[in-house]
Parts: sequence; C-alpha cells; structure tokens
Amino acid sequence: MAGAVPSSGSLIDGFGRRITYLRISVTDRCDLRCRYCMAEEMRFLPPAALMTVEEIAQIADAFVARGVTRIRLTGGEPLVRRGALDLARTIGRQLGHGLEELTLTTNGTRLVDQAGALAEAGVRRINVSLDSRDADRFRHITRTGDVSRVLAGIAAARDAGLAVKINMVALKGLNEDEIVPMLRWCAGEGHDLTLIETMPLGDTGEDRTDRYLPLDAVRRDLEARYTLTTLPDRTGGPARYVRVEELGLKLGLITPLTNNFCAGCNRVRLTAEGLLYLCLGREDRIDLRAALRAGGRGALDAALDRAMAAKPEAHAFRIDAPRPAVARHMSVTGG
Ligand code: SAM
Ligand code: SF4
Repeated sequence: MAGAVPSSGSLIDGFGRRITYLRISVTDRCDLRCRYCMAEEMRFLPPAALMTVEEIAQIADAFVARGVTRIRLTGGEPLVRRGALDLARTIGRQLGHGLEELTLTTNGTRLVDQAGALAEAGVRRINVSLDSRDADRFRHITRTGDVSRVLAGIAAARDAGLAVKINMVALKGLNEDEIVPMLRWCAGEGHDLTLIETMPLGDTGEDRTDRYLPLDAVRRDLEARYTLTTLPDRTGGPARYVRVEELGLKLGLITPLTNNFCAGCNRVRLTAEGLLYLCLGREDRIDLRAALRAGGRGALDAALDRAMAAKPEAHAFRIDAPRPAVARHMSVTGG
C-alpha cells in the first residue's frame, strides 16, 4: 500500500457494518483443557511469538481512535498471561475517551487473586465459564479443573463489585440436566446466564457431533416450565436474550449453528500473535503486528482499512461437516 493514505474514520466493512467491538486474545494458553475447546495435548505458541503488552495496547488504541467502543480481553485464559493486568490498566485509561466498556472472559481459576485489580482497572462486568457446578463433572469436562476455585473466584468477583455473567456450553449427555439447576443458581446469586452451542472450531480429539445440543430444543423444554419473554437486547453477536419471568433471570442463547446472525455483526478478533480475524467462522485475517512493526500507526490504519474490505459476509459453520469448519481452536481467537 505504498503511497496509500489510510483513512482515520470509522471502521465500516464492505457490507456496511460498523465495527465497534474488538475481542483480544491475550494468550492462547490455558490452565484447563475443556473437551469441546482444546485437545488434551495442546501445543501453544512459544512466548516469543506473542505480541508484547505494549503492542497489544497500541493496537487497542488504534481501534478506539477508529470508533471501537467495547473491548473484551479473552484467550486462552487471559489471566494466565503475565502482564494481563497491566494491559487491562493501560486499555482502561481509554474509558471515557471513546472506549465505553472493557470486559473480560475468563475460566475464573485466578479471579480470587485478580478480581480486585480488574475492578480497579475499570472493568465492571466479566463473563465466567462454568459448564457444571458438580466437582467430578467439572473435572471431566475441563479434564483438569477444580470447580471450588472457580466458585471462589466468582464470589471474589462479586465482592470486588464486578457483575458476573456465567457462560455455560450446553453439552448433550454431559450437562444438559444441569441447565435448570444452573438457571436457579444464577438467579439466586444475581448472575446472568448465557447458554452456548458447541461450535466446530479446531480438532479436540473428540467428536463434537455427539455432544451438540441445539438450543432451540433447550428453549422449548424451558418454555414448558417457565415463562420466557424475548428481550430486545442486541449485542451485534449471535446471542439472543430472554427473561425467565419466574426467576427474574436474564438468559442469553448463543446459537451460531441453528441461526445465523451475521448481518448485524459488529466485531473482529485479534490473536495474541497480532492476526486480526474478521469472522470467527472463517480464515480471513490481516497481520496487524507486521503492519505495526513495519510502519507504525500509519501502516496500522492502512491495515485496518484493508481488513474492512476483507471482512466476509457470513460464517461457514456446519456441525455435521467431516472436519471442523475452522482448523484453529476457539482459544486462538477467544470466544
Ligand atoms: N478461557 C476463557 C473461558 O473459558 O471463559 C476465555 C476463552 S474461551 C475460548 C471463551 C468461551 O468460548 C468460553 O465460554 C468457552 O466455553 C467457549 N468455547 C470454547 N470452545 C468452544 C466451542 N468449540 N464451541 C462453543 N464455545 C466454545
Ligand atoms: Fe481454556 Fe476457556 Fe478453552 Fe476451557 S474454554 S480450555 S478454559 S480457553
């Protein structure tokens, strides 16, 4: 793009969608090995392949200057990366200066130590993944995890003043009988709950079709017990929200496979290596770190313009495809 003058305006893609939401995977590493997310023997990037915290912050800055109002830190497990709290503090300084919200998705294992610092950095809401509250099941699903640490982490987050939304991946034969108890527990604790369909991302060494539980069936079951009122809330992603009237609970349903909500997509995803993925369900990407290192902010802005031109119209997920629709794991681009 020699000689090209990068634009400095809003990020609008070739389909007229305004990009206002950035998810940043700060590391591909994790201290758990959830069966639907990772293989048991995962290979991670060598530390030298990761962007520095300063580089991530520079890229976040450029996005905010171009109209991004929400940033979510994710992973892998964001809180296992040294420097994650520094990054949250640095990005947090943009709050009130274009950035409206800084959030985090975490497995909760390190929240006991880190929830207070996140709140001080300006984080107000976090998502915590919790697929089961039963110790043996939790260990089975995550292959290694201790649910008591996660539950203590959730309590620490609440004590630090963070609003907690629980993310639960609905898994046929593994935790479907815990959906109603989880609804009740979240309602009692004051947490929102989002149920997620498994997505065919990356080889995990297991067959996801066995575990795929379509959420329209779950919704029908819930409607037999509770009054569900559809809420108008939209986040620009695949989540749709209902209120479970009898419990006073806001319930999200993420159904990328049974429904396709790409027309309202407002987001892009940055990996820990600096690759900007333009759709969770496709391979299209632009190397922002290379642009930053080669030409600083000007080259970064030009790369963002190229990214907008390259963003695909829709994902290509199919649960019954012979191979995962996308070879990379969810932990590379975050949820
Ligand atoms: N480690 C953090 C956590 O678990 O919350 C953040 C990263 S994790 C990749 C983000 C979310 O993606 C989690 O809620 C997780 O349950 C979900 N997830 C991972 N792999 C998935 C898959 N193949 N299909 C659907 N959701 C998945
Ligand atoms: Fe780790 Fe989150 Fe993937 Fe589970 S879902 S293995 S906690 S990155």
